[in-house]
Amino acid sequence: MPDRTERHPQATIHAGGEWLESISAATRDILDPADGRPFAVVAEGDEKDAERAVAAARHAFDHGPWPRTPVAERAALLRRVADLLVRDREELGLLESRDAGKTAEEGRVDIDCVADAFRYFADLVAAEAPGRVVDAGSPDIHSVVVHEPVGVCALITPWNYPLLQASWKIAPALAAGDTFVIKPSEITPLTTVALIELLTEAGLPAGVANIVTGPGHTVGARLAEHPDVDLVSFTGGLISGTKVAQAAAPTVKKVALELGGKNPNVVFADACATEEGFDTAVDQALNAAFIHSGQVCSAGARLIVEESVRERFVAELARRAQRIRLGRGTADGVECGPLVSEQQRAKVEAYVASALAEGAVLRCGGKRPEPAPERPESGWFYEPTVLDACHREMKVVREEVFGPVLTVETFRTEEEAVLLANDTEYGLAGAVWSADTARARRVAARLRHGTVWINDFHPYLPQAEWGGFGKSGTGRELGPAGLAEYRETKHVYENLAPKPVRWFAG
Ligand code: NAD
Repeated sequence: MPDRTERHPQATIHAGGEWLESISAATRDILDPADGRPFAVVAEGDEKDAERAVAAARHAFDHGPWPRTPVAERAALLRRVADLLVRDREELGLLESRDAGKTAEEGRVDIDCVADAFRYFADLVAAEAPGRVVDAGSPDIHSVVVHEPVGVCALITPWNYPLLQASWKIAPALAAGDTFVIKPSEITPLTTVALIELLTEAGLPAGVANIVTGPGHTVGARLAEHPDVDLVSFTGGLISGTKVAQAAAPTVKKVALELGGKNPNVVFADACATEEGFDTAVDQALNAAFIHSGQVCSAGARLIVEESVRERFVAELARRAQRIRLGRGTADGVECGPLVSEQQRAKVEAYVASALAEGAVLRCGGKRPEPAPERPESGWFYEPTVLDACHREMKVVREEVFGPVLTVETFRTEEEAVLLANDTEYGLAGAVWSADTARARRVAARLRHGTVWINDFHPYLPQAEWGGFGKSGTGRELGPAGLAEYRETKHVYENLAPKPVRWFAG
């Protein structure tokens, strides 16, 4: 475990290679969602801190070595970062668990995925050809299309997968040769601060990686509008995302948005025809809806099940949901942690109340659990909740709840299943379960979502693009397109035998 004592605990702003407190000297307590108590303190930056960090990133891009560092060296640095993440896996996984309220095992898996992202972008950039030669139709013309770093990137991230979402932006930005300022969620900044320390340890030049801890409406807004920022990549909710796009528009910077989802999980009766098939589909529906207490952008929060198997399916799902063990992420045997904040739990409670008022039938959950030693009363826990008899007009079906709440709708025909699955303003992810391969593929082809799983839920691959249709966002993370976001494309046309064109006679 590294000794990080050289940084004062609340000096969590990093600009130009220095660890700093906020200019205003304001700080923020970081609360443990399992008991609501403060366990760390960070600098509370504002617009001025954002200015300082952008100036450092701009200087490093315009005058520093990183954008011109050979690709092989950039890739080697990313691989060193991956190795450091593996070295600190336990420590970082526990920190993520405590900060975001996820189980310790989920925290560790997140760190593995973060290391994978760094390795993937290292491999991708190292394997690339330096440019694409274009045949201009003449031996005297040498024409090549090259990719160059976009410049200074503002990276704004949410609280549900703090380090994972940061890595999907930081790794490609560094691979491309950019410099950046990251603003993590104000409630879960700790692992992102630790990652900046690892980047320094791996040998990244000063000024390339900068971080400002602080709120969205001050730090985030200033980064999005700043004229010296060339790209803003945002992951978060729809409302904040539209504000970021508006703030970025006057400077015509590149904008990438990864927003929310209201993701359908479509189950055909034939997927449940065998005991094994039934068990798998129920198990995965549980996983889809309740992992990380449903605080997942791609959570399968809408179960759309064929009418003929609905009763059996929902009964088994509710039976198993009731048995999910809630508690502090580090406690033995715990399967689900608390919600991230008191505000988030209040939002979930309001959605459940509105659903019940609109006629939904509560099959399980719908309340805070009884306190227990692994589950203090002051923690922000909420029981996994299954709401039956839901329909498309209900608020709980249309809007992203971002909590442990599963709604159940039913269909009779394939056409109806597709209609329901696509009836959302979002389009992030969705799944179809069927034993009939032709049908599963037919339905998958018609789903208007950025990721579609057939007979599975949740897996993603760093090699495959991630992002949304509709109001789930613009642009893609991961995969080759996830690197392209962080680049400009330049055509260099070279005339080896220049002659006058005589367009003008005089
Ligand atoms: P949020 O929109 O409240 O905040 C996200 C980030 O934006 C935070 O850092 C916040 O401080 C900042 N922010 C808020 N207002 C801002 C503004 N006006 N200008 C600039 N920055 C601002 O979202 P959240 O509650 O932290 O995260 C949950 C949301 O993130 C959900 O909607 C979820 O679906 C989405 N999400 C999407 C993906 C994806 O891959 N599409 C992944 C994870 C989370």
